Amino acid sequence: MAAAIHGAIPLFHVYDVPTSVAFSRDILGFEIVQTPRPFMPASDHSGWALLRLGGVVLMRSNAYEGNIRPPSPVQPVRRARRFSGRGNRLEVTAACKLKSMAVDTISAGEPAARPPIRAAVPRSSNSTRRMKAVTRKLRELASIGSALASTGHPYMAHIVPMRRCNLACTYCNEFDDVSDPVPVDEMLRRIDHLGRLGTSVITISGGEPLLHPELDQIIARIRKTGAIAGMITNGYLLMPDRIERLNKAGLDHMQISIDNVMPDEVSKKSLKVLDKKLQMLAEHADFHVNINSVVGGGTPPQDALVVSERALALGFSSTIGIIHDGSGQLKPLGEAERTVWDKVRKLTRRSYSRFNHFQEAIANGKPNDWRCRAGGRYLYICELGLVHYCSQQRGYPGVPLAGYKTADVKREFLTEKSCAPNCTISCVHQVSYIDHWRAPQTSQTTPGPSGHGTPELVQIR
Ligand code: SF4
Ligand code: SF4
Repeated sequence: MAAAIHGAIPLFHVYDVPTSVAFSRDILGFEIVQTPRPFMPASDHSGWALLRLGGVVLMRSNAYEGNIRPPSPVQPVRRARRFSGRGNRLEVTAACKLKSMAVDTISAGEPAARPPIRAAVPRSSNSTRRMKAVTRKLRELASIGSALASTGHPYMAHIVPMRRCNLACTYCNEFDDVSDPVPVDEMLRRIDHLGRLGTSVITISGGEPLLHPELDQIIARIRKTGAIAGMITNGYLLMPDRIERLNKAGLDHMQISIDNVMPDEVSKKSLKVLDKKLQMLAEHADFHVNINSVVGGGTPPQDALVVSERALALGFSSTIGIIHDGSGQLKPLGEAERTVWDKVRKLTRRSYSRFNHFQEAIANGKPNDWRCRAGGRYLYICELGLVHYCSQQRGYPGVPLAGYKTADVKREFLTEKSCAPNCTISCVHQVSYIDHWRAPQTSQTTPGPSGHGTPELVQIR
């Protein structure tokens, strides 16, 4: 049905207003501007909502009111017409409640008139992008040089500005759906302390970092310390203007993990949903983008290949990780998974030349012989500002970052972790590889079962 929109605001009649508004807010990133009363997402089927995202303003309103609301959305258009009682003209019944808004009618059957969606977002020139890539590479080389010269500082820290996530992947034990953002002043203090420790790379993770309202300030502060600024995101909230703001803040790296081609009950981080976001990144991002695909854990093996091919076609780098099944135990990849694994590694050889040899043992279901430098070279800072070995060993050592000193870094650097042989956390493997040839570990600790009490699926990031 073509719809000509007269007035200022497109209105969409929907069956379930709370679900539609929650989707618009949490997945698409709209802000709720106005509702008739405090919005009750779980129960309010009678309302409407005015939403805004950048220059786009629209309304969601219920298609059925009172006792005409059917138990399921059968033939929604016809029912909506019957309700409006205006033939092929759908009266926007909620518009009268928005007295200052010029919404009037949506007419069915007329030629489609596309409302102005948003002004085009300007993007950097190719030469600017190239220059940023070159300076980024030089800074990376300098950071590796400084790590080789001294073992007394962290190389990488992952820091959580917000535990909340807009998704709920069933294998993940790193999110909740309630927590507030860490106040920006506290985040800046933590970043400054990481800077004083001499941290080379600070990566913002979560939860979903893009939900933090002051994320750009946090990124800019990371750059001010001299560190390389990274971010791990599910990508759902990316839009052209948001990407440009990340450029301006100075983001260096972004990683998005895409788990499958079609969304399923385990993960909605699918290529189908995210492909538009990847195109926006290809168009607007001045920073480096890596797309991580996965095999294992029941995902159709071929999906990893499709995801990697798409990432490379858009000019990104691509890596592949292994998701283990519910037992959390290392198991060799099955034949189909192994074939895809080999193909993707061949395809992404350039990404793989960088310290990923440990994954060969994981793919074969074998333990790795390595020295985990967590607590020394790698720090995981949770939303409470505590230092942990990694996302799967929260509570060890579990002490405030504000009191973490170079002496702690040096002690943990030389502490052997009993969970190392079966560990699948790729960022710690990669960071620890810098020192694999030196400094045997002289003390021991047993941090507890990897998986923070819920050893389900461990994803390599
Ligand atoms: S894996 Fe990432 S996107 Fe999925 S629930 Fe966890 S934090 Fe959110
Ligand atoms: S789980 Fe892995 S990264 Fe974490 S402390 Fe153990 S060995 Fe290190």
